[in-house]
Amino acid sequence: MSRIITITSGKGGVGKTTSSASIATGLALKGKKTVVIDFDIGLRNLDLIMGCERRVVYDFINVIKKEASINQALIRDKYTKNLFLLPASQTRDKDSLTKEGVERIFNILLNMHFDFIICDSPAGIESGAILSLYFADEAIVVTNPEISSIRDSDRILGIISSKSKRAENNDIPVKEHLLLTRYNPKKVIQGDMLSMEDILDILQIPLIGVIPEDPDILKFSNQGLSAILNIDSLSGQAYSDTVKRLLGERVPLRFLSEEKKGFFQWLFRR
Ligand code: ADP
Ligand code: MG
Repeated sequence: MSRIITITSGKGGVGKTTSSASIATGLALKGKKTVVIDFDIGLRNLDLIMGCERRVVYDFINVIKKEASINQALIRDKYTKNLFLLPASQTRDKDSLTKEGVERIFNILLNMHFDFIICDSPAGIESGAILSLYFADEAIVVTNPEISSIRDSDRILGIISSKSKRAENNDIPVKEHLLLTRYNPKKVIQGDMLSMEDILDILQIPLIGVIPEDPDILKFSNQGLSAILNIDSLSGQAYSDTVKRLLGERVPLRFLSEEKKGFFQWLFRR
């Protein structure tokens, strides 16, 4: 059974695209045939952070408008087997994204027997964001530990439970997961950020992972590499744990408290 999972948030800049690339890469590394779709028409950057921007010839909108076949538009990932990207167009107008068009693409991908269809949602709660989650089986709500992000996540949860196809058809509801990103335990202790417990209290959906704040993420994505491939980094390990949980493994949470400094770091007090 294929799983259509939308990575969403309401707010921009919280880590949706970073998480889409890392989760899709992680699933493919686990042997799952995975496609990741960039729904951010006009602002495409999933191809950039996955290092394949120069290979984009046809995009999602070309396929919707039947100007290209899905095979012409899908880009096979350079580093990871089983992983494909359907890029967004940078120039076309957003109105080209229609419900019928998106449904047709999903049906083609389902017929191609992808195990996972990961949708990188644009920011906001307008048509692009709604379409990206309309057909979803599951939603990963990406949230930063700050009140504006939590408020927008709450708003998107309302949309999932009222405007998704599953809601319209009285079907089993979209399965919701909370992914906390840019979590900084030091700031939580100082009282500058909300804690995981506080956020869970407000949003009341099951937690799928906590990704620590990690400046290396930007360095890595500037090189066209997903954060999960940085296996020495805490964020890479946290994404890897998140993927295992999506696949049903029980993995304890990590990186919720400040890392203890090693002896030499302590000695030099950096
Ligand atoms: P969105 O798709 O929600 O707009 P992005 O994934 O593009 O967000 O991320 C926005 C910015 O935040 C990028 O510069 C990215 O490198 C950075 N970022 C994402 N996750 C983290 C993290 N865990 N730690 C530090 N920076 C992060
Ligand atoms: Mg994005």
